[in-house]
Amino acid sequence: MGKLITGIHHVTAVASDAQKNIDFYMGVLGLRLVKKTVNFDGPDVYHFYYGDETGRPGSLLTFFPYQGLVNGRQGKGMLNTTTFSVPTSSLNYWLERLKRFGINYKKPQERFADETVVYFEDEDGLGLEFVFNDKDARQGFSLGHIPAEHSVRGFYNVEIWEEGYERTAALLTEQLDHQLIAEKGNRFRFAANDSPGNYVDLLCSPDRMKGLAGSGTVHHIAFATPDKQTQEEVRLRIVKRMLNPSPVLDRTYFTSVYFREPGGVLFEVATSGPGFAVDEPVDQLGVSLQLPRQYEEDREQIEKTLPRISVNPDKYK
Ligand code: ZN
Repeated sequence: MGKLITGIHHVTAVASDAQKNIDFYMGVLGLRLVKKTVNFDGPDVYHFYYGDETGRPGSLLTFFPYQGLVNGRQGKGMLNTTTFSVPTSSLNYWLERLKRFGINYKKPQERFADETVVYFEDEDGLGLEFVFNDKDARQGFSLGHIPAEHSVRGFYNVEIWEEGYERTAALLTEQLDHQLIAEKGNRFRFAANDSPGNYVDLLCSPDRMKGLAGSGTVHHIAFATPDKQTQEEVRLRIVKRMLNPSPVLDRTYFTSVYFREPGGVLFEVATSGPGFAVDEPVDQLGVSLQLPRQYEEDREQIEKTLPRISVNPDKYK
């Protein structure tokens, strides 16, 4: 039997300013805005999806930008760092680029073998890293203002801080098809698929304060499952583990099931398809506001409520 979980699908975070969010992720980092839509559970807020050319699972970072929302706090029970995979030879390029746009970063540091890590944050303090490595076979995406050879390939890993890691580890290995593939100090690395974009690091961090939701924090992480049938099978496993999963919800670009893992982080299982070309062509992804059917009749009101944004990555050449 094939795996029910194939890796990371997306990470969703909360921001405080739609325009600054666009400028940072499209402009500075050069990701593609693959979908501009609204929060399906509250359409007065945007939902931005950034990723590679078509928004493949393992490249997707998404945001709810609540204008003016106060900052949350990193801590345990939270996914605190999302990392991007870039080639080793791009180290100087990216350090220069962060410097040029006034983004503070921490000194490069070795983590596991052949991984050089640089920590930085976005405008809201969301924890990010570049992981410079040479084991990523994915093509990056370039809007043109960042040379293709330096472009972000997608995620590398995510980092979750936990009071204790054992119960979350058991969920990952017993229900979510992950394996422990590396460990160092208090860091335990799991993956459903041993390749960049799919590593889940649990950090045993009992001395940390508890994380608090707000801007600059992650709302949830989604794992990828091939289709609706495998999603239903995973859902049953979660029911048997008594973690009370949500019903299957239609998110237009995938279907979703949510549940809270024992350490407090919201997990989602999302289907790999149908993907972002379901309501606009690939060459037009993210250009116009896409609404799910149930909100289409309120489009005029929704467009009036949402803040105006402009997309001009050329400012970030
Ligand atoms: Zn999600």
